[in-house]
Amino acid sequence: MPDFSLYFSSIFLNNFPEMCYNKFGSGRFEKSDLIKVKKVDFLEGLIHSIETFGTVDGPGTRYVVFVKGCPMRCQYCHNPDTWETVGATRMTPEQILDDYERYKEFYHGGGITVTGGEPLVQIDFLIELFELAKTRDIHTCLDTSGIMFRRNNPELLAKYDRLMKSTDLIMLDIKHIDPEEHKKLTAQPIDNILDFLSYLDEKEKTIWIRHVLVPGITLIPEYLERLGYYIGQFKHIKALDVLPYHSMGKTKYEQLGIDYVLKDVPEATKEQAIEARGIIIGAMKKRRHDMGE
Ligand code: SF4
Repeated sequence: MPDFSLYFSSIFLNNFPEMCYNKFGSGRFEKSDLIKVKKVDFLEGLIHSIETFGTVDGPGTRYVVFVKGCPMRCQYCHNPDTWETVGATRMTPEQILDDYERYKEFYHGGGITVTGGEPLVQIDFLIELFELAKTRDIHTCLDTSGIMFRRNNPELLAKYDRLMKSTDLIMLDIKHIDPEEHKKLTAQPIDNILDFLSYLDEKEKTIWIRHVLVPGITLIPEYLERLGYYIGQFKHIKALDVLPYHSMGKTKYEQLGIDYVLKDVPEATKEQAIEARGIIIGAMKKRRHDMGE
């Protein structure tokens, strides 16, 4: 998922604590600092990095695990270095949670978030991690694009059903509401993502929606209204986070030798994010009104 930690996040204005800095500095440590893997029987996750004091990836201050591997190719992705699994550091759920325990005094009202990359690429690992987290009474949050969901695969669906039992919050990124534009923006179809949203709502899971405003691509009133009207039908969406596009990830593309498609696209502003969020919320209310609520 994109790292927008330095940027405006509309739903967090009133609900979230100040950015937390302490002796651990930014909280993010590099792969070389990660715990050395020992031989145990747990599944291992393919980890990109860990942020020990995340404040924008779920409620409270959180331990944020960035995993590797993602089939999406969002044009604004901040973390193209998570797309491939090559170079991942392997960690077991137990190792991750033991590391979490080192900082747990800072996580009152927080917990653990898994983001990426796309966490659901490693669903077996995720199940073990979250189930173990719940045995330690840790709040669990999944930050996902939903792209891996397949309702017509019974074996996979059973894994999702199991994962949901140990997942407290799902932050779902909806990249674009228009199917054609979604494909252009992410190189993937939207169908399974929207089906995942329906599935989450059926399961009565707490859902936060995230949407990135890209000028000329998603920052268009018609699309914002369509998005709001669509998501307005779901009862378990509890927050909407509208994030202005910025180009901070550009340098990574240069380093990786990947063309940065949005190089001529201007950044969006906080004011545009406030306005866009208002349009989406207005359309959500209209949908609920049309549904007789
Ligand atoms: S879903 Fe998109 S933004 Fe998130 S990691 Fe994958 S390519 Fe990047």
